[in-house]
Amino acid sequence: MKSILQTFYVMLLTGVLIGLAACNHHNNNKEMKTENSTTLFPKGDKLTNGYFSGEAYLQPLLAKDKNNDFVLGSVTFEPGARTNWHKHPKGQVLIVTEGEGLNQEKGKPVQIIRKGDIINVPENVEHWHGASANSKMVHIAITNYLGDTNAIWLNPVTSEEYNEANKKIIHHAPK
Ligand code: MN
Repeated sequence: MKSILQTFYVMLLTGVLIGLAACNHHNNNKEMKTENSTTLFPKGDKLTNGYFSGEAYLQPLLAKDKNNDFVLGSVTFEPGARTNWHKHPKGQVLIVTEGEGLNQEKGKPVQIIRKGDIINVPENVEHWHGASANSKMVHIAITNYLGDTNAIWLNPVTSEEYNEANKKIIHHAPK
């Protein structure tokens, strides 16, 4: 009788341990999946330089050096956040790594930009980029230098300009 009870307890304990191991395994997989499908780089620090509206963050990735005449960084725009109008004396390349946003050159229609899009910003063209009103957007920015200057910052994108730009997203929303 005693040995049957002992056997029962051993089986119960084994069952609990297998159960715990399965849970742990499941959680690990879940974490890995989350990590792989979302953020590529850390969010970095909130930008407080006055050249952005809303909540924008910068994670510097690579500084200008003797071989690379550009700066590389990952910029996270929370919904509604955008750069000021600005230009780059030697242009800029943007690689969207997450979400949906907007890019607009002065006097041209706004462009919807999404994860995987690459935007080649020409030199000395006034433009802005940022999140859409309802989605965050993360992009890597490769910004070239002319001497010590990589950007000339101009006026903020007004609410009117930003709302007008977002109409394009509403217009093209899936039916
Ligand atoms: Mn730019």
